[in-house]
Amino acid sequence: MTSNNNFIKFMLDVKDKNILFSDDYFYKFIKGKKAKVFNAELIQPACPHCGSVDIKHNGHYISNIRYITANASQPVIIRLSKQRVLCNDCGERSMAKSDLINKYCCISNISKRKIISALTEDRSMTSIAREHNVSVNTVQRVLASCSHNFHSDWDSLPKHLAFDEFRGVGRKLHFICIDGEKHKVIKIIQNRFKKSILKYFGKYSPQARESVETVTMDLNCYYPDAVRACFPNAKVVIDRFHMIQMLNRSFNSLRVSVMRQLDRTSRQYKLLKGYWKLYLMRYDKLEKTKPKYQWRIKDSLTQEQIVNEGLDVDDNGVLRNTYEAMQNFSQAMQKHDVQAIKEIIYSKNIVGKQMHTTLLTFKRNYRGVINGIDLEYSNGCLEGLNRKIKQIERTAFGCRNFVNLLKRIHLEEN
Ligand SMILES: [Zn+2]
Repeated sequence: MTSNNNFIKFMLDVKDKNILFSDDYFYKFIKGKKAKVFNAELIQPACPHCGSVDIKHNGHYISNIRYITANASQPVIIRLSKQRVLCNDCGERSMAKSDLINKYCCISNISKRKIISALTEDRSMTSIAREHNVSVNTVQRVLASCSHNFHSDWDSLPKHLAFDEFRGVGRKLHFICIDGEKHKVIKIIQNRFKKSILKYFGKYSPQARESVETVTMDLNCYYPDAVRACFPNAKVVIDRFHMIQMLNRSFNSLRVSVMRQLDRTSRQYKLLKGYWKLYLMRYDKLEKTKPKYQWRIKDSLTQEQIVNEGLDVDDNGVLRNTYEAMQNFSQAMQKHDVQAIKEIIYSKNIVGKQMHTTLLTFKRNYRGVINGIDLEYSNGCLEGLNRKIKQIERTAFGCRNFVNLLKRIHLEEN
């Protein structure tokens, strides 16, 4: 042991008693970088097989360990000589081991831990690799090594599930299923075909599948079929926000088509074009008493007056009917008024073409729609998750590898 041993160990935060640093440290150029190299010996005080101290030294195995460093442009390398010993009592050969590093590996375990913690952040693999002086492949390998923690339990499923899809690798849509209460990802499937969904949930035990009570989803045509096939006791719940979104879109499409028939300089055109946000606002939240000067149409009007005048542009009343369908639906939804919803869906009023389709879709998925209004579950949590996934993809410059994307989503979650 040398005088600097304790100091170097303190600096590098190495705690293993069996590692002894020597005074022999120097700089060396490795791949264009000036690296600090420390020499150390890992001793084997006793035989690991029988515990005997009567051992004979039998050379060293030298490994160059990449260690963590605060300054990424100056890598720290520990040249560790691992003692090999031959036991005089049991005759077994052995090599010294340490927590610092795994056998036959040249990246310290502490570096790996730091890489994992960096992977949970929103960073690209290249930047992580650069900071820890390892290759991108190593980062990927570390990521792969912690993926076994994500294995799922085939005997239990949460009571409330949420289905959705997101655009990921190669602009393809992926299926995602999460726990509706704890908001943890349960599964991401590379495609969103019914076959793959059935195949995945088919792996669960029947008891687990029977325990699912609700599945929240968008109005995707085949998800309800998949749910019926997989979860015998589950109720299909159509996501509330998705329904509102569909209604708003239907109204907007009609508004735009009415607008297109008008002269671009006319007051009516401006009423429909410039104030589109007001139509999507709830009617009872519109300003009704204080008129304000509206620079677009050079007139003083309240918000309510703008909306009413705008809706009257269409002489047939179709625009107004469509508007009312949208407004009444969201109001009924707020009050959980099932009867009112029924009246809107089965109403005979003439509405815009897209609104008609939307209401028809609601009619077809009537139970799911009613459940969506009755029960408190929604896909709101999924939206947050989708944003997170987009963020991961953006920093990873569009994850090219689906598996890596998956693992990082899982890692970032835990
Ligand atoms: Zn022995």
